[in-house]
Amino acid sequence: MSRKPIIAGNWKMNKTLAEAIDFAKAVKSAVPADSILDSVIGSPALFLAPLAEELKGSNLKLAAQNSYFENAGAYTGENSPAAIADLGIDYIIIGHSERREYQHETDEEINKKAKAIIANGVTPIICCGETLETYEAGKTAEWVEGQITAALKDLTPEQVSSLVIAYEPIWAIGTGKSATSTTADETCGVVRQTVEKLYGKSVSEAVRVQYGGSVKPENIAEYMSKENIDGALVGGASLAADSFLALLEAVQTQQVAK
Ligand code: 13P
Repeated sequence: MSRKPIIAGNWKMNKTLAEAIDFAKAVKSAVPADSILDSVIGSPALFLAPLAEELKGSNLKLAAQNSYFENAGAYTGENSPAAIADLGIDYIIIGHSERREYQHETDEEINKKAKAIIANGVTPIICCGETLETYEAGKTAEWVEGQITAALKDLTPEQVSSLVIAYEPIWAIGTGKSATSTTADETCGVVRQTVEKLYGKSVSEAVRVQYGGSVKPENIAEYMSKENIDGALVGGASLAADSFLALLEAVQTQQVAK
C-alpha cells in the first residue's frame, strides 16, 4: 500500500511574524499543486492567520502546534480547534513531548484533543516517544504502544485511517543524536502494529507514521527509505527556508528513485 509522504516542520516557539511570512514567501512556490508529498509547516498559533492568508492557493500546508479540546468557553490562553479549523488549517500537532513535559499534558487530554480536532475536520499529528531512560531499559515498544493506545481511545477505524502519528524519541530531539534508521523504522513499526491490533490491517496500512528527532536534509532520505516511515517531523532543520527546501528536495529525489 502506498502512503503519501508527509514532511512537517515544527518551528516550536521560534520566529517573528515578519520571519514567518518571509519563510512562506520563499518556500510556497517550491511546492507544486501536484506534489507527490504533503509539505507542512507547524507555526506558533500567533502567525497562523497571516500565514494562511499568505499561503492561499499554495500547496504548502499549515499545522498548529497544539489546541484545546473544547471549541469555546472560559479557558484563558487556550486556542480553540474550531477557530483553527475556521482559518483553513489542515493539521494540529498534539502530544509533543515538550508539551507533555513542560505543560504536563496527559494521554487522556491528548485523546480528548484528538477527538475534538477530528470533529472539526482537521487532521491531528499525534506525537509519541520515549525518554532515554526508557530506551536504555529496552522498554520503548511497550511505552509507545501504551501512548498510542491511550491517544486513540474510542476513535473509529475511519478516523484512525487518516491520522498522522509521529514517533519522536525524546533523546533524539534537538540533540543531534538521531535514532538510526533501523531503530526508527522498528519503533514506527510498533506504532503500526499497535494500530493493527486495535483496528485491523487495512487501517494500519493507511495510517501515516513519521519519524522525528534530529532529521536533516542529509539523513532524511535514509529514513524515508524504510518501510514503516512515511515522513518526518522536523524541528531545527525546518527553521531556515533553504534547509526546509533541501528536506523537500531530498524526499522528492528519493521517492522518484524508488
Ligand atoms: P529536532 O528536529 O530539532 O530534533 O526536533 C524534533 C521535534 O521535536 C519535531 O517536533
